[in-house]
Formats: sequence, structure tokens, C-alpha cells
Amino acid sequence: MSTGKLTIDLDALVANWQALDARTACATAAVVKADAYGLGMARVARALAKAGARQFFVAVAEEGAALRQALGPDADIFVFSGHMPGDADMIGDMHLTPMINSLDQLIRHVEALPGHGFGIQLDSGMNRLGMEPDEWAAVREVALGQNPALIMSHLACADEAAHPMNAAQLATFREMTADTGVPLSLAATGGCLMDADFHFDLTRPGIGLYGGQPFEDARPVVTLDIPVIQTRRVAPGETVGYGNTYTATRETRIATIAAGYADGIHRIMGPKTVLYAEDVPCPVAGRISMDLIGVDITDLGHDPASLRLLGAEQGVDDLADNAGTIGYEILTSLGARYDRRYIGG
Ligand SMILES: *Cc1c(COP(=O)(O)O)cnc(C)c1O
Repeated sequence: MSTGKLTIDLDALVANWQALDARTACATAAVVKADAYGLGMARVARALAKAGARQFFVAVAEEGAALRQALGPDADIFVFSGHMPGDADMIGDMHLTPMINSLDQLIRHVEALPGHGFGIQLDSGMNRLGMEPDEWAAVREVALGQNPALIMSHLACADEAAHPMNAAQLATFREMTADTGVPLSLAATGGCLMDADFHFDLTRPGIGLYGGQPFEDARPVVTLDIPVIQTRRVAPGETVGYGNTYTATRETRIATIAAGYADGIHRIMGPKTVLYAEDVPCPVAGRISMDLIGVDITDLGHDPASLRLLGAEQGVDDLADNAGTIGYEILTSLGARYDRRYIGG
């Protein structure tokens, strides 16, 4: 076995969903787009459905079709991108609920699939998806006449609870949805952690389920152990890796491990990143290559069989900080080569 071993803890995932659910008085969905943030949509969604999740969100209809096959007929599957050209068969056959983003989408939907359920996505200020106030005012009556299943909007700054954008979007969303009588949804993970005004009828957490910020109390879900292929002694003055960026300043022991930037371990995180042998941190030595990384194991005192990049000691947000990015990007970059194992669930 020479690929990294990625272990996904379904009990931790379920505990995170339950903990976010317990913070609100409303229903809690699960966002499983992008293969459940890289962790495997079918396994993740089945574990959450077993724990009681009934509503799931995906980005595109293709993901919704795959999710329907994984979950069977009972779950509600909402599609953020709405009803795109060519999606009618998938939406119809797989009983997906498109979140309609524009008048064009609304017309496309009711013409292609009259009577088929849909939701409405409103833009409350992020300017990414959804109908703006004018457009919504124009179609509101017609749309409400067709009994939408859900009306939602999305917060741009929910990772900063005190940001004034949150209150501004809340006010806009309230204004746009007043007297609709339709179930409402505004909160993703960040919104779940804000006060009850933001919760409405359904929350839509993603990253918090997978152990990422801004859910501080999340349990870590992923562990990544990378096998050591070879170890060697490096004398003071010798260098390690491409570009000679690391020069040994003492008698050094280097382990070469079987993963690299092709597996989502971004090159830029190298200088700040360590790997763990039990609780001993071992710094990356030199540049991260495509399939290999040199690690300084001198202080460990023995040659380990593998080293841990992700786990309780160092989580996705630590790696994200090292790489100048966010936990979402670390998770969705996790490589296809890893040997994926699921525990719990
Ligand atoms: C991705 C996404 C979510 C989930 O967001 P998290 O920050 O991962 O909880 C919710 N709603 C929309 C519209 C999204 O695009």
C-alpha cells in the first residue's frame, strides 16, 4: 500500500450535523455539493439520512441525480443552480427541486415540467445567484401561485457574525419574503451559529458538517496518513528536494512520503506545514513535489511507517492557514488517489 489513507469518520460527521441542528429550533438540511466537499456524497448523505436529515442541497442537477440514486425516493433534493437548459429530464425523472434563480428559469421550468415542484432563490445582496428585488416583485405573484416548496437566499459574510452585511441581508430577505406563507431558508453553517433571527424554517450547513470553520466546536471528520517510502541520512550542508530550498544544518534524518501537490497538498503550504508521528511534529523539508514530500524526522528518533497530515493535531483549517486559503478548498482538493475508508455510521 503506497497511497495515503484518508479516513472519514461518519460518526463525527453525524455528531456535527446533530450539534448544528441542536442550535436551532428549525429543520436542518445538509449541503453535499462537490461530492460532499470531497468526502464522498453517497456515503455522507446516507449517514446523515440515517441520522434524520431529510433535505439535501447540491450545486447542479447531475449531482442531484447521483444523490437520488444514493438516497432513494424519500429525501428532498434541492439544486442551487436551478433549472438549466437541458436539465428537464433529470429534474423530472429524479424528482429534484430546482431553486429557480430568474424569470427565464421559471418559464423554462413551468413550460417543461408543469406541476413539478420548485423553490425560489432570492438575491439579498451577495449578487451571485437568485432574483433581485425588482425581478422578484415582477414575478412574485405568478411564482407564489405555483406553490414553491422553499424560498431561500445566501449570506455573503456569515463567517463574520458581527459584519453589518448580515443584518442588511436579513432585512432585505425579510422584506422580500413578507406574507409569502412559504418555508424560508437563509442560514448556511455561519448563519446556524448566529441568532435565531437568521434560522427561519430550514438551515443549510455544509462546511460545519465536515469539521471546518466557522463551526469552532466541530469534531474533526478526516484523518490523512501518508506512508513513508524511504528514509535517509542527510549530512550538514546537503540539500533536499527541487530547487535546493532546504539545506541541512545538522545531521538530519529525512523521510520521503507518498503524496504531493497532485493529491491536493498545495505546494505553497510547505514551509509552514508539519506532519505528525503520534504527537511529534515533523516539519516539511524542501519543496512539495507532485507525488512526494520530504519530512524532517530527526527529532523523532526512529523511522515511522507513515506520517499524519490531517487529524486531531492539525485540521483542515490549520492547513488552510498554511496555504493562505480556506478549509473548504483543502477538503475539495483532497486527492482521488487516496485510499478512502469510512468508519462509524
Ligand atoms: C455552499 C452553500 C451552502 C453551505 O455553506 P457552508 O458555508 O459550507 O455551510 C449553503 N447555501 C448555499 C447557497 C451554498 O452555496
